[in-house]
Amino acid sequence: MAVAQVIIDIPAQQTNRPFDYEVPENLTALAVPGVRVLVPFGRSGHLRQGFIWRVVDKSDFAGQLKPVARILDLDPVLNQEMLALAKWLAQDTFSFLISCLQTMLPSALRANYQRRFHLLAPLAANDPLQALLDREDSGLIPDNIAADLLAEIKRLEQKGQLTIDYQISQKTKIKQEKVFKTSLTSDQYQGLRQSVRANAKQQLLLLDFLIAQAPFVGNSATWLVKVPGLKAATLSQAVKKGWLAAEEKEVYRQPLTEVTATTPKKLTSEQQAAFTTIIKSMDQAEHTTFLLEGVTGSGKTEVYLDAMQHALAAGQTALMLVPEISLTPQMVERVQGRFPGQVAVLHSGLSVGERYDEWRRIERGEAQVVVGARSAAFAPLKKIGIMILDEEHESSYKQEDMPRYHARDVLLKRAETYHCPVILGSATPSLESRARAQKGRYQLLRLTKRPNTIQMPQVNVIDMRQADKIAGKSDLSKQLVDQLNLRLERHEQSVLLLNRRGYANFVLCRDCGHVIKCPNCDISLTLHRDTNSLKCHYCGHQEAIPSACPQCHSQNIRSYGSGTQKVEQEIQELLPTARILRMDVDTTARKGGHERIIKQFGAHQADILLGTQMVAKGLDFPDVTLVGVINADTSLSLPDFRASERTFQLLTQVSGRAGRADKQGEVFIQTYNPENYAIQLASAQNYEAFYQKEMGIRHQGGYPPYYYTILISVNHRQEDQAVQKIYQIQNWLQPQLSEAAVVLGPTARMITRINNQYYYQLIIKYKSEPRLLKALQTLIMKMQSKTNRGFQLRVDREPMQFM
Ligand code: ADP
Ligand code: ZN
Ligand code: ZN
Repeated sequence: MAVAQVIIDIPAQQTNRPFDYEVPENLTALAVPGVRVLVPFGRSGHLRQGFIWRVVDKSDFAGQLKPVARILDLDPVLNQEMLALAKWLAQDTFSFLISCLQTMLPSALRANYQRRFHLLAPLAANDPLQALLDREDSGLIPDNIAADLLAEIKRLEQKGQLTIDYQISQKTKIKQEKVFKTSLTSDQYQGLRQSVRANAKQQLLLLDFLIAQAPFVGNSATWLVKVPGLKAATLSQAVKKGWLAAEEKEVYRQPLTEVTATTPKKLTSEQQAAFTTIIKSMDQAEHTTFLLEGVTGSGKTEVYLDAMQHALAAGQTALMLVPEISLTPQMVERVQGRFPGQVAVLHSGLSVGERYDEWRRIERGEAQVVVGARSAAFAPLKKIGIMILDEEHESSYKQEDMPRYHARDVLLKRAETYHCPVILGSATPSLESRARAQKGRYQLLRLTKRPNTIQMPQVNVIDMRQADKIAGKSDLSKQLVDQLNLRLERHEQSVLLLNRRGYANFVLCRDCGHVIKCPNCDISLTLHRDTNSLKCHYCGHQEAIPSACPQCHSQNIRSYGSGTQKVEQEIQELLPTARILRMDVDTTARKGGHERIIKQFGAHQADILLGTQMVAKGLDFPDVTLVGVINADTSLSLPDFRASERTFQLLTQVSGRAGRADKQGEVFIQTYNPENYAIQLASAQNYEAFYQKEMGIRHQGGYPPYYYTILISVNHRQEDQAVQKIYQIQNWLQPQLSEAAVVLGPTARMITRINNQYYYQLIIKYKSEPRLLKALQTLIMKMQSKTNRGFQLRVDREPMQFM
């Protein structure tokens, strides 16, 4: 008997193992690892979706095995490489196996469970279930149903007054389309024409076309274009008469866009040297990791494209990850232009269906090049010849929810399977990566210049303690405004960065000092002028701006902080003719908003692009000759050991937007800390010096990359419970660690309460702790026990946020 070991799609510790099912005789050929199945699960025996993990001959389970109910795929949706990758990922990130398997697949393949109740007897008039019945989709039991309603449903079910049925479906289906195809020859159509009445105009119209064009195939839209005047109904009639055959054909939702093919640029000597080293490693099938450290605009992307081309020429495929925010049409066109028709793009703007279609194109080998954001690390490419992680220092490559993976680690793992190199590229590599290159674990390649005669921008630091400021304007120096004006006169463009990391607009009473806070979280609410409301960025709570102080009823309340909207207004007043585009969370929230702004700016329909960190990345526009940083300092003061690194990266990256073509670029950085080393070295654009300096500081403080870190956090509705638990965990864990390990905390998280849950945490810093992994796995198990209900535990390896 064949036994399928199935991973059920319930992400919980209790179900985090394979369950055995009998494979019915008629399904044995299809029951292979990596296919999705439906199996009865739990006491109810309701069907759940799962993945076959392994197929074995016999089960260790003593009782009677239930049979697999259905197999959903003809071919596995996860191959052996992916299954092995999932196993590694689950271990490495302390995640449930099912969460890893699902992360690898487009969400279209996930099951959609629906529960519905059907009344067998009428409800009492005052029954609380009435509300559910009155909804449009009557009888649907929502996933987030209130506990008392669910109890009522169960009660009525037991009394026999209603039944519950379970339905399970796939989120999205393969899209199909009807195509019409000639089924006869031209001569046969000629014969038919004789027998058609002269007043059957539509039929004659069609037959004339068929005589001239058979064989022909196309969807109805194609036919109607080809045969002007033809009606769709005539096509259907022709099928009935046997003139045409109709069939359903699978189609992709997003038709391929036409792109203009481009040719490779002649590489500079630095680019050539990097390229030669990389392809040597590709040819020898080595899984070397290269760190391509190239100043902004040095042509790293050209090197990537050439390396990808080298892979394709060898019959291999290529994977390139870029941060979501850099996945602009400009970037996508650049890759598509080099590899027309061969590129699949995976970004968050795709609908569930579109993403599924792109995934299928990759899986079938129809697309050999994949460009995408973080989750594209799992693109089902085979025979990968090169993998690239552009802007490798970006913290968005780390996923914040389970599985808490870093895309870099996934690529490095896949490279072992494919024996192919990985390129990590950045102008400002993460200290972790740069340190590995120092140790020889990565191979360092450097591009120190921009191609041809293009110069790096000149950077000027404006000391805001002494600068002439413009009266009444919050934070603009006269010098910066003069520079903006100069660009307007020259018809050049400017990019302005408002560094809002750790900075927000809040509303404060000037009489009593009361700050308006979120009722659910320990954080002040942020003012949004466009909706005239106050919002919590953590739980989503929203309220109207009060007209008086809730505490002292004074009307003297006002907003503090410098938002993009406010700066936009101020600059507009100073430069009335300037066309300003604003790019921030508000203007880019809607689908396509970010793209639209970039397109407009790229077409020089605006003079100034003002925005948050979004403006720092990936823009490559020849008319931009000025970059201004309004407040360099805000991100320096964050209580995070990476604060200097983040500030250095941000300033260097945004400076790099200036002067990328033949016009010289200039950068002006406004700061109250002009002597700070991160600001100094960013303005000198000296990454290597920053690296040396910062490594010294990390060494002294005992921070990464000298130590590994793991964050353990516990939350509960009651603060004292959370505190007790974190101390318990510490007391249990500490004896299992060596003397060399350092435990920081327990401490409250900086924002202790979010959504009415209190968060307490521990940070473990260590170099080598052979027992730590096992201990953490045991901890995760223990936290699932009944006595620990109400607690949530989070174990985060190499966290990006320590607050
Ligand atoms: P990076 O990825 O390092 O920021 P890009 O690859 O975007 O740099 O290159 C910056 C600009 O220089 C682009 O406009 C690109 O077309 C151009 N460029 C890159 N390499 C060359 C080259 N070898 N010859 C001419 N132009 C180049
Ligand atoms: Zn007040
Ligand atoms: Zn909140």
